[in-house]
Amino acid sequence: MAHPPTTDPANTTDMPISTSTTGTPAAMNNPNPETETTDPETDFLLQSYIRLRHAISTKTHRGGDDDDDDDGQHQHRHHHHRHQQPSDRRPVLPTREALAAALSSLPTRGSPSYLEGRGAAQTHAHLLAALLPALNAQALSPRYYGFVTGGVLPVAEAADNLVTALDQNVQVHFPLPPGPGSGAPEKEEEEEEEEEEEGPGWTHSASTAVEDAALRMLIDLLHLDGEEDDEGKGARTDPRWPGRTFTTGATASNVLGLACGREAVVNARAARAGGKKTVAGDGLLAACLAGGVREVQVLTSMGHSSLAKAASLVGLGHGSIKDVGVPGEPWRLDLDAVERELEREDEGVLSIVVVSAGEVNTGRFATNVLDMPKLRSLADRYGAWIHVDGAFGLFARALPKTDEFLGLHANVAGLELADSIAADGHKLLNVPYDNGIFLCQHASVLTQVCSNPNAAYLASSPGDPNAILSPLDIGIENSRRFRALPVYAVLLSEGREGIAAMLSRMVLLAREIAAFVRDSDHYEWLPTEEASLESTYIIVLFRAKDPELNEVLVDRINASGRMFVSGTKWEGKKAVRIAVASWRVDVERDAAVVKEVLTAIAVGRKC
Ligand SMILES: *Cc1c(COP(=O)(O)O)cnc(C)c1O
Repeated sequence: MAHPPTTDPANTTDMPISTSTTGTPAAMNNPNPETETTDPETDFLLQSYIRLRHAISTKTHRGGDDDDDDDGQHQHRHHHHRHQQPSDRRPVLPTREALAAALSSLPTRGSPSYLEGRGAAQTHAHLLAALLPALNAQALSPRYYGFVTGGVLPVAEAADNLVTALDQNVQVHFPLPPGPGSGAPEKEEEEEEEEEEEGPGWTHSASTAVEDAALRMLIDLLHLDGEEDDEGKGARTDPRWPGRTFTTGATASNVLGLACGREAVVNARAARAGGKKTVAGDGLLAACLAGGVREVQVLTSMGHSSLAKAASLVGLGHGSIKDVGVPGEPWRLDLDAVERELEREDEGVLSIVVVSAGEVNTGRFATNVLDMPKLRSLADRYGAWIHVDGAFGLFARALPKTDEFLGLHANVAGLELADSIAADGHKLLNVPYDNGIFLCQHASVLTQVCSNPNAAYLASSPGDPNAILSPLDIGIENSRRFRALPVYAVLLSEGREGIAAMLSRMVLLAREIAAFVRDSDHYEWLPTEEASLESTYIIVLFRAKDPELNEVLVDRINASGRMFVSGTKWEGKKAVRIAVASWRVDVERDAAVVKEVLTAIAVGRKC
């Protein structure tokens, strides 16, 4: 049941990649003569990739639990035996020996060969032979449950290789010349003069259009355009979120969210005081002084640590983060407390409210279906900005609308009422790092924060409200990677249903594990045993009832080599967190392994 419709995990891990039987990825003979071309660069890259995939598949079988004698044939024989899939036995962490070997292979200052060019072939052989075995198999393992990381869908990896091959810099949007009847507004005279210098409607890449297509599809996938039931078909052509861009991750998206929030609330106050000062133009201090602003606070409930970092980066400081969670359910936003804080607006205290849509320890949500409209009207009344940190939580909106997920849908309902939203591509969407998403309802605020002033040679604004904005003016970087392509590829390849199925498998596995932990004599389900499974998303938080075992539980689990988890603290005591985020999830297979490992550890049996 648990395979995604269009991609078979077994196929990608078991693919016969090479006819070589030596098992030595460092061997420099071409393992697959069919790929030989006449171009040395192409040859090198093709062979590098073949060797990489070959090394990955052999790494799978080395040092694995009990299948040291495994080889390619063995692998094939068991291709369809779910419980014996190689991915099932794959060691998640590198061995101590591999780590030691890798560390001792690093160049040492003072050695005669230090910084002596080794050449591409030898260098690549070093990467595969010494470094690869010392990395963790995060993206390759179906049971890497540390942090919230995700894996990489094969089609996303393929798209990312294309991005690397072309080293596409997505920087300035040069629109196509307006076609007949495109409705583009008349150019002003000044612009016309500029165009004569550069040539009319100059375009040099489709990348910005692809990026925009990916962002629009994401907005529709997540039902964020505020129009229900139209499935994105026949929807109006200008979705909300005219300020939309890809970032390096949710941290960068949170930086943009706080920067935009700060810009909007402070400038509005400065304007009300009759001044023309802005944060972007005059700086935070001058704009706050002009508006009589004493403080800008960030109201949230169990905000992610990156939020404090973002607050530091945008000049608000860690201390600006104020927790207004519901007592006993600290991940939930206490709207009464929020209102009390917003009222301080008349003392010159301005607020940005950050909704933790998916709290990172518990996976629970700050708001419910009725909260967001209330929060929106409070923010409007008191001049506050609403930012959603939905790094992984936002994707609950793409789950099927079936009974088992209705509770989660209620948790993420109304998030489209926010001023800005942060999400991660490299977590649940399973595209490679670095991939984050930032959406903003107010393009002018985003461009005010991010535009490059006095750089006329980069200007390309067409002045059309429905146009694609230059990436340059809506994000942190100027030169930047074509991060959109892997997302575009995943959306195209999986479609709404494929992505819904992938997310469902993550949630259903988390719930299987949660039910096991809840019913176990040895473990305690956190934050509360009384919670319903329906409120479980992709994270399971728990601890061992035996305090001694609890101290070492994370290490014991990871020492099993069968799965990887990360530790956290809950109410001052150690706890284990399982975050299910890989497309490779197989509910039945993985639940069995997790239960086996947790049971064996609890009863002191080897696993
Ligand atoms: C992971 C995460 C972040 C940070 O995202 P990065 O991708 O690591 O930059 C922010 N908020 C939440 C809720 C997260 O889970």
